[in-house]
Amino acid sequence: MRKISADYIFPIHAKPIKNGVITVSGDGKIVALSTRSETDNDIEFYSGIICPGFVNAHCHLELSHLKNLIPKHTGIIGFIKEISKLRNIADAQEQIQCAKFYDNQMYLQGIVAVGDISNSNLTFEIKKQSKIFYHTFVEAFSCNEAETKDILKKNQDIVDSGKKLGISVSPTLHASYSMCDGLFSAMKLRSERSGILSYHNQETQDENEYFKKNSGKFSEFYDEFKIPDKPSPVGKTSIHRLLNSIGKNTKIMLVHNTFTSEDDFDFAESANANITWALCPKSNLYIENHLPPIEMFRRKKARIATGTDSLSSNTGLSIIGELLAVSKKFGNIEFNELLTWATLNGAKALGIEAKYGTFEQGKTPGIVLIDNIDTEKMMLTEKSKSKIL
Ligand SMILES: [Zn+2]
Repeated sequence: MRKISADYIFPIHAKPIKNGVITVSGDGKIVALSTRSETDNDIEFYSGIICPGFVNAHCHLELSHLKNLIPKHTGIIGFIKEISKLRNIADAQEQIQCAKFYDNQMYLQGIVAVGDISNSNLTFEIKKQSKIFYHTFVEAFSCNEAETKDILKKNQDIVDSGKKLGISVSPTLHASYSMCDGLFSAMKLRSERSGILSYHNQETQDENEYFKKNSGKFSEFYDEFKIPDKPSPVGKTSIHRLLNSIGKNTKIMLVHNTFTSEDDFDFAESANANITWALCPKSNLYIENHLPPIEMFRRKKARIATGTDSLSSNTGLSIIGELLAVSKKFGNIEFNELLTWATLNGAKALGIEAKYGTFEQGKTPGIVLIDNIDTEKMMLTEKSKSKIL
């Protein structure tokens, strides 16, 4: 049994506790929450705040070898061009080494669960061995109908290989702009059947323009690269392509949402009752130099979660880094709310809230210390760091 204390404990399901104490069993189960008293002994005390382990709602561990290779502010189309050139710049062994290193980095910084996108099974052994729980979304994309059958088979094979290893996997769609109609419907059906899906949504305004008006940079991109089967525009913003007919209760994680309007939000929430809006602010700043409409999402009481995206569009896989980017721009957001995005909401998005996300008794959420906090204003500072205890 461990008794751990800090200046504040943020249990997430309850209000922060000044001089709180958390009692944890040997296997990491939360036993009790209390306040420190003079007579308490055998307490590990830390300066800073303690909260449940972080859930990184959106990552691509298998792209970890692309750190520092892609220039900033290329816009999404420039980014797609770069990534397709560089994706296999390292051999498989090097890619695995990088992924393994950053899996461990994430854990040390307090990330206990990850919603991870994979296009191969390269990282599956790492995930099996990891201290982190991963739910892997095995993603498909292609704008060539002639390939659809093969891509569906490959996707199924990767999902099956994950299941065989005993890791948590499910099929998913990449984005509106990257999939021809046949592959899109087949993958939509497949991921709806699995009950959970992740989707790169409205990462650029050009995506909306293409699906609304069949014009803009995506239109030019498809022509430039002689894309055989362009997605059919739908006369509305790109979010409609996915959600115009979707199972009401499929768990949907919409990732990025950088150019989601209030109308898009209202439409999405009426189409499905189980949406998480996963934001990856540092990646958005890296690629598009633009942040999602965070005030709108908050006003509409959206379930917001936090992701790092991959190291191809970020300088680190750190949840504190993401929260700091948000609080620099929106200083009025309470720290408890930011931590809720990074813990409970991510756990709900992945369907693992029975174990992760809060300090409720019986859960095994992991325990994270964040130091160098401005405890007067209760805000992160540039020096804030997190670590797993
Ligand atoms: Zn992504």
